[in-house]
Amino acid sequence: MSDVLIVGGGAIGICSAHYLNQAGFSVTVLEKSEVGGACSHGNAGLIVPSHVVPLAAPGVISQGLKWLFNSSSPFYIKPRLSSDLISWIWRFRSACSESRMRRSMPIIHELIQASLPLFDELAAIDDLSFGYRKEGLLMLFAKEKGRQDCLKGANLARGMGMPVEELDQEALRALEPHVPDGIIGGVYYPQDAHLDPGRFVTALAAKLKQKGQTTIHTQTEVTELVEEQGKIVAVRTNQGDFTADQILLAGGSWSPLIARTLGLKLPVQAAKGYSITLPGPTVSPRIPMILAEAKATVTPLENQIRFAGTLELAGLDPSINRKRVASILKAAPTYFPDFRAESVSRGQIWSGFRPCTPDGLPMIGRSDRFDNLLVATGHAMIGITLAPITGKIISEIAAEQSVQATSAQSLADLSVERFSA
Ligand SMILES: Cc1cc2nc3c(=O)[nH]c(=O)nc-3n(C[C@H](O)[C@H](O)[C@H](O)COP(=O)(O)OP(=O)(O)OC[C@H]3O[C@@H](n4cnc5c(N)ncnc54)[C@H](O)[C@@H]3O)c2cc1C
Repeated sequence: MSDVLIVGGGAIGICSAHYLNQAGFSVTVLEKSEVGGACSHGNAGLIVPSHVVPLAAPGVISQGLKWLFNSSSPFYIKPRLSSDLISWIWRFRSACSESRMRRSMPIIHELIQASLPLFDELAAIDDLSFGYRKEGLLMLFAKEKGRQDCLKGANLARGMGMPVEELDQEALRALEPHVPDGIIGGVYYPQDAHLDPGRFVTALAAKLKQKGQTTIHTQTEVTELVEEQGKIVAVRTNQGDFTADQILLAGGSWSPLIARTLGLKLPVQAAKGYSITLPGPTVSPRIPMILAEAKATVTPLENQIRFAGTLELAGLDPSINRKRVASILKAAPTYFPDFRAESVSRGQIWSGFRPCTPDGLPMIGRSDRFDNLLVATGHAMIGITLAPITGKIISEIAAEQSVQATSAQSLADLSVERFSA
């Protein structure tokens, strides 16, 4: 029997396994399909100190309503009768205030800043290679409205003490020669970085297996958490029962389904996004980019280029909506004049579910109701960025040590049962 059993082999589950091992715990990971095969696989792979504004922010609701009936918009809520969705939207709406955003930003900032040095440490592990590059991030705009949005974000980031550079066309071109003529300016975040997210998770998992303190069971689906007197006594799967002293629920967007078997409600909605990864690009930027008007990201990977974007609250439906994929790609020729739509047929189209809480903060902590249950989910758009620090915090909580990365007040804001009141 392992000390800790982790449900979910995504970035959060595997990083948690790493830090739990470092803290001296033996770990078993149960994964229903393949390690790193879900949302942690085809995402944009950006490590983003620049992203201090939570998903729940002023203006999101009014913008979302404008886009609601546009099936190719970057943000879309599929109308459906679901009490979970309705109560999530209700909570999301009240979190979209200036004061709530200002309260969440320092917490996100603190977590991200604590995660950054951990990426350096992980990249320094012998033979662990996951395409980690510290090139910063460019937010580009082609129109005045895009410029205003970018500068607003830049001011908020600067207010948190982050280095931010506003660039005109000439300065942009000097930094990244692949920026085309139509772009009128950009904002550069030098602290940002990127990696190949799929490789990050699978390479770290392979390393953990090799070291022998972590056992990973793939194709092992958790069907029930069995509780007796406030403690989880068994984890039921399609491969039999497992037990451990402590259980970590890191099932991404599926976490609410698993928690429900305990009668525990986790308000996490799946926000589907897409990426298109093209092999052998003729032009590839050195610095990843976010295209302000298109709300799409461009990440240079080894011999590949990845376009990603859109956010669709449509439940756990993995189907590919071609209109949304097209809306991401529509932006490509503006930024890459050599881009040919035909090359998409050689590319890989992927969809993933971001696990989103209504207040835009993840849930990281020990359950108040179930003694030996830890939860780490709800990382929304920054789960790769926050994976190392989440794992570290979980290992400290499991070891009943004081958490170094963040204050007790912030931990209360990240607590598992904060929506139960
Ligand atoms: C288009 C897009 C772009 C993104 N870009 C970025 C980015 O640039 N930077 C960034 O930081 N983040 C980004 N994200 C967000 C990031 O991908 C997620 O926040 C992160 O991957 C979540 O990790 P996770 O481990 O919680 O979930 P997942 O990776 O989904 O892992 C959960 C795992 O649990 C398993 N599981 C579920 N149910 C069960 C069960 N019953 N039994 C056993 N196993 C189970 C699943 O199979 C899965 O492997 C992006 C997301 C999308 C969609």
